[in-house]
Amino acid sequence: MADGSAGRRFQLASAFTHVVVGGALASLGPGPRLRLAVVLAALSVFPDADVIGFRLGIPYEHPFGHRGFTHSIPFALLCGAFTPWLSGRSLRTDVRSGWPIAGLGFLATLSHGVLDAFTNGGLGVGFFTPFSPERFFFPWRPLQVSPISAGAFFSSTGLRILASEVVWVWLPLAVALGVSRLARRRPPNAA
Ligand SMILES: [Zn+2]
Repeated sequence: MADGSAGRRFQLASAFTHVVVGGALASLGPGPRLRLAVVLAALSVFPDADVIGFRLGIPYEHPFGHRGFTHSIPFALLCGAFTPWLSGRSLRTDVRSGWPIAGLGFLATLSHGVLDAFTNGGLGVGFFTPFSPERFFFPWRPLQVSPISAGAFFSSTGLRILASEVVWVWLPLAVALGVSRLARRRPPNAA
């Protein structure tokens, strides 16, 4: 079956798309941005470290199972708090760039769960774990679920998965970034 019973192999938007979204967020942050982009891209895929739970015998539907705590808003807040430090900044001594970077870290981490909630398979996302065990999907789920293992991803279905993500995530993101750049660009005759 194509949906929830697909089991362990089909659970996520592809890692490429998570990284693209995380890295793109760096363009909204204060410079220098290279290290920030690497940190945000890493945070955008970090939630799927919870797949180790499968090996440890943690059931998918458990609060610490796949798409549970590491995909939640509280976990994103935690990661956001550490992002300035990971990016070589300090929330205490570098307040003007530290807090925006913490916010971007939160968004990059949370973007993972948000993208997963747009996928058409697996279990929903535990946005409020550990405070609520409920799992969520958005009502509209255009993204094809992607296999967790790279070997399975680079198969005949891989291209179809990536195509759905390019259409529904990469292109809108490129347009949004382009518009935000244009909006920030000062007109040539501005004072
Ligand atoms: Zn995930």
